[in-house]
Amino acid sequence: MIQLFLPLNFLGFVYREIRRALTDLENMLGLLTTKPRITDKENAQPLAIQQGNIEFNNVNFSYHSSRAILKQLSFTINAGSKVAVVGASGAGKSTLARVLYRFYDIDSGSICIDGQDVRDITLHSLRQAIAIVPQDTVLFNTSIRENIAYGRPGASDEEIDKAIKMAHLTKFINSLEKGDQTLVGERGLKVSGGEKQRIAIARAILKKSPILIFDEATSALDSHAEQAILNAMREVAANHTSLVIAHRLSTITDADKILVMQAGQLVEQGNHQQLLALQGEYARMWQLQQMQSNNC
Ligand code: ATP
Repeated sequence: MIQLFLPLNFLGFVYREIRRALTDLENMLGLLTTKPRITDKENAQPLAIQQGNIEFNNVNFSYHSSRAILKQLSFTINAGSKVAVVGASGAGKSTLARVLYRFYDIDSGSICIDGQDVRDITLHSLRQAIAIVPQDTVLFNTSIRENIAYGRPGASDEEIDKAIKMAHLTKFINSLEKGDQTLVGERGLKVSGGEKQRIAIARAILKKSPILIFDEATSALDSHAEQAILNAMREVAANHTSLVIAHRLSTITDADKILVMQAGQLVEQGNHQQLLALQGEYARMWQLQQMQSNNC
């Protein structure tokens, strides 16, 4: 028995050593492919925002070197306009917003705001200039009012009231016994997805950034909730350069420009009518969504 035990024990030892070496190698390769942390350049200047004109020039980006996610992306978002991005799941819509906010740096090309490359300006000034309404907003365990006020610490009561009104939250708040003092978050009132997004819109209004990114919730909202969000968004869009990542085409038919993405590439752009007339990818998506909404 002992004659068998020793060689088997030795083989076990060799196996464990090989496994460990492979894991170390994997970790090392992982480190090599990890993108550098986003920081300010040594001589970064604060963004001198004029109107909020955004330009993507031949932008290429990949999370990992093995797979390109954004490919030769070029487009302009004119200051004060509303631009929507549409495309199948995984087309790169959210990634486009992430590189604009500089969660990641692009591999080649440039992204400019009012003619200034986002890599040349301070991160703080870039992120002050952009307000994001995410798909799923995190609510803190405090009152609705404080959750909104978080958009800009130091905002006056009047400014918070105005943001509540513009985000079409007044009716909802008035229906609650404790009004805007109602506690929300995990331990408070459960608010619907639509209400949550309107709280996020109010936060974004309060932030007073010239650029707004709105990431439409993928989860289905009833038509009342959707309409409330649309109304809130229209109010906000009137004062912002806005980029809307849309999943339901019915919500962006009024956009000044719609960018149609497919596998990281921009395949069509134009307004709703122009894209329908093209009878291409957008028209196909529109027909499909019309059929789906008629089916139930
Ligand atoms: P959806 O409509 O489902 O939100 P999308 O068009 O916004 O999709 P992205 O989220 O931009 O798509 O993702 C584009 C591609 O990048 C997808 O294939 C996704 O799997 C990949 N991806 C997204 N985030 C990461 C990440 N952090 N690391 C690696 N790959 C990622």
